Amino acid sequence: MKTFLVLGAGTAGTMIARKMAKALDSSQWKVILVDRTELHYYQPGFLFVPFGMYSKDDVVQPNKKFVARGIEYVISGIEQLQPAENRVTLANGRVINYDYLVIATGTDIRPDQTEGMMDGGWQQNIFDFYTYEGAAALAPVLQKFEGGRLVVNVVEMPIKCPVAPLEFLFLADWYFTRKGIRNKVDLVYATPLPGAFTKPRAAAEFGSMLERKNIHVEAEFAAGLVDSSRNVLSSYDEREIPYDLLVTIPLNMGADFLNAAGLGDELNFVRTDKATLQSTQYENIFVMGDAANIPTSKAGAVIHFEMEIAYKNILAHMAGKPLDHHFDGHALCYIETGFGKATLIDFDYNQEPLPGKYPVPGIGPFDLLGQTTINHWGKLAFKFMYWDLMLRGIEVPLPTKFSMAGKKA
Ligand SMILES: Cc1cc2nc3c(=O)[nH]c(=O)nc-3n(C[C@H](O)[C@H](O)[C@H](O)COP(=O)(O)OP(=O)(O)OC[C@H]3O[C@@H](n4cnc5c(N)ncnc54)[C@H](O)[C@@H]3O)c2cc1C
Repeated sequence: MKTFLVLGAGTAGTMIARKMAKALDSSQWKVILVDRTELHYYQPGFLFVPFGMYSKDDVVQPNKKFVARGIEYVISGIEQLQPAENRVTLANGRVINYDYLVIATGTDIRPDQTEGMMDGGWQQNIFDFYTYEGAAALAPVLQKFEGGRLVVNVVEMPIKCPVAPLEFLFLADWYFTRKGIRNKVDLVYATPLPGAFTKPRAAAEFGSMLERKNIHVEAEFAAGLVDSSRNVLSSYDEREIPYDLLVTIPLNMGADFLNAAGLGDELNFVRTDKATLQSTQYENIFVMGDAANIPTSKAGAVIHFEMEIAYKNILAHMAGKPLDHHFDGHALCYIETGFGKATLIDFDYNQEPLPGKYPVPGIGPFDLLGQTTINHWGKLAFKFMYWDLMLRGIEVPLPTKFSMAGKKA
């Protein structure tokens, strides 16, 4: 028997394991999927938890519901990967020798990497919303917040879903307006970027939205230190931002074992061919989702677009054929803007987000870079698409390739 091993049973791992188990002859191949947790998280829903819009049931489910039949699902930490030996050692002591490997271990927040972040203030007046635990702990704090300085800070790029901090601020503006205390809350966005976003046209659009909503942007702020005794966040160039409540997006890093395996860059993201999704170092390793160092957004929608490419290239490699399927970096993201509206961006490696319309037969078109109610419903519908279509291997009617249709250049 040959072994097809998938590390990480999040969005990418659960989906590619299902596709491979269906494609491979079970008399010759076994498909093994490994993760340290038996829970599956709908991470885009974490955004809504602090504002009381989603509860635990919306965002956490047992993963065994989504792991297809025929896959051996192993719950254990992954301790060591020896790519030259085609071998993985798990925390439970099991050693797995593989023929093909997909790395899909995503990215984690690392508050421990910023000096002072976890001293004293952590989960007192410093919170994250990139984990379920962080988002749930923040909800009662926001509810009781009566006014003061709320600072949202991105420590360093890249982070998963780079628009989520903006969405948090837009929702905070709406939430405190609805509570009748918006005039008592100062909202501040401290970002390492020169503006609101990475891509120029979207950055200009989001920048003016932040201004209209009276959200102050502290740009090029490279956070280096949290002094929780004074409630001050400092940058490496010694600027200081005082806060009453700090909502941080800590440094995002890939799994440590990837660095030890010699596959990771300085943030443990795996060096990956951005077109074929194959490891640049080992032919029998493919990388999917947030774990890869490819220059597109770390987002669930990106994984949906990657899936067909990775799947076809893996099968081509097994058949000794060239890897002809190329990923274009396609990313599509609804951005909640508060007051029941959202906007939408669609881009790839070469084309930045543009205004116009995104056509979806039957339900669209959706406004690109415009704020509409139908975009908000699109954002909320993503939860259904995730739990009931994507994870269950049911086709989602969104074409893999980026297209200029409907866009105004
Ligand atoms: C607040 C927030 C909002 C978001 N909003 C959106 C959105 O609107 N649209 C969108 O498309 N995307 C959004 N995303 C991003 C999206 O959720 C992720 O990009 C996607 O889930 C990543 O999937 P993945 O499979 O790469 O990693 P994950 O789903 O994170 O899975 C990685 C898995 O690997 C396991 N793992 C890691 N290391 C080890 C180890 N050493 N041993 C064992 N197991 C290990 C983990 O337990 C985990 O289950 C958002 C994310 C957040 C946090």
